[in-house]
Amino acid sequence: MTDRVLLNVVHLKKYFPVRKGLLSRVVAHVQAVDDISFQIRQGETLGLVGESGCGKTTAGRTIVRLLEPTGGRVEFDGKDVAAAQGAELRRLRRDMQIVFQDPFSSLNPRMTIKSIVEEGLMVHGLGSRNERLDKVRETLEQVGLDPSYINRYPHEFSGGQRQRVSVARALALGPKFMVLDEPISALDVSIQSQIINLLVDLREKFGLTYLFISHDLSVVEYISDRVAVMYLGEIVEMARSESLYANPLHPYTQVLLSSIPTMDPARRRRRIVLQGDVPSPIHPPSGCRFHPRCPWAKEVCRQQAPKLLEIDGHQFRCHAVEKEQMGSGDYELPKQRTLPSEAQLEEAELAATK
Ligand code: SF4
Repeated sequence: MTDRVLLNVVHLKKYFPVRKGLLSRVVAHVQAVDDISFQIRQGETLGLVGESGCGKTTAGRTIVRLLEPTGGRVEFDGKDVAAAQGAELRRLRRDMQIVFQDPFSSLNPRMTIKSIVEEGLMVHGLGSRNERLDKVRETLEQVGLDPSYINRYPHEFSGGQRQRVSVARALALGPKFMVLDEPISALDVSIQSQIINLLVDLREKFGLTYLFISHDLSVVEYISDRVAVMYLGEIVEMARSESLYANPLHPYTQVLLSSIPTMDPARRRRRIVLQGDVPSPIHPPSGCRFHPRCPWAKEVCRQQAPKLLEIDGHQFRCHAVEKEQMGSGDYELPKQRTLPSEAQLEEAELAATK
């Protein structure tokens, strides 16, 4: 990893309009990604985690410009991705690739493996017919597939092999940066580690930079240098992996980490069960977006949105943590910040259903 910033995401927003009525008038917006900022250095892997619907996939797709941003900026290698046109945009599309979650639906069943991997090279006008064929064979070998398979169709492969084809399709163009959008969640557990090891090997071999999107925190810890946690369109915590897993500051991160099964007694945490459902991103809660589900929420959390603050490179967005770590803000710390007991949680759940 170098100190050079390859990707700079600045106050990125992506809203989707909600239309209603005969005239399809816009009546609201789904705030899928709401003002996120981070940088990724060359050769670095940033893990982006959160529950389904938190906006992580939308963020990944907006960064590679599969979706147009509503606001903010994405700079890749110093160039504004949203403003790029013509040859510059084509160059960016080669340098920034994406691997999708589901290798079953992301590969065209009517195309052979050769056509799938070669397609990008043809679109970008790279190489002669023979050179492209050599490149396809070479790339298949790099992802651990037998080059003699090139005339087979996706349905002739297992899930893990199809995901290798998806990686080959992205890799053939010689990218600098890849968004890996839940690349192993659709695969059998026995295959997942093979794909992760392949991605790690390719990163080392080609000096690739990754944005690794997942809801599986144990996998993210293994592959990522830094981790950003998203909740309802916002980044609520971001730190180096060791720091985040050893000392999670935000209550939501603590909840996510408490749900990882572990055999290591030193890392075992008390399971924290969240109350309620994820609120609607059309009308996110006032103040801190996590307050309706947070065991430590107070009045200030309902009133004021916490700012993203930083201590020694560890960023967090929480009034309680701000008071605890920096001594500032309006949150009134109890003498001991303890979680509600199981009995209290059950009682609250019972009361909510009455
Ligand atoms: Fe919980 Fe308040 Fe912190 Fe939000 S700001 S995470 S509601 S303690």
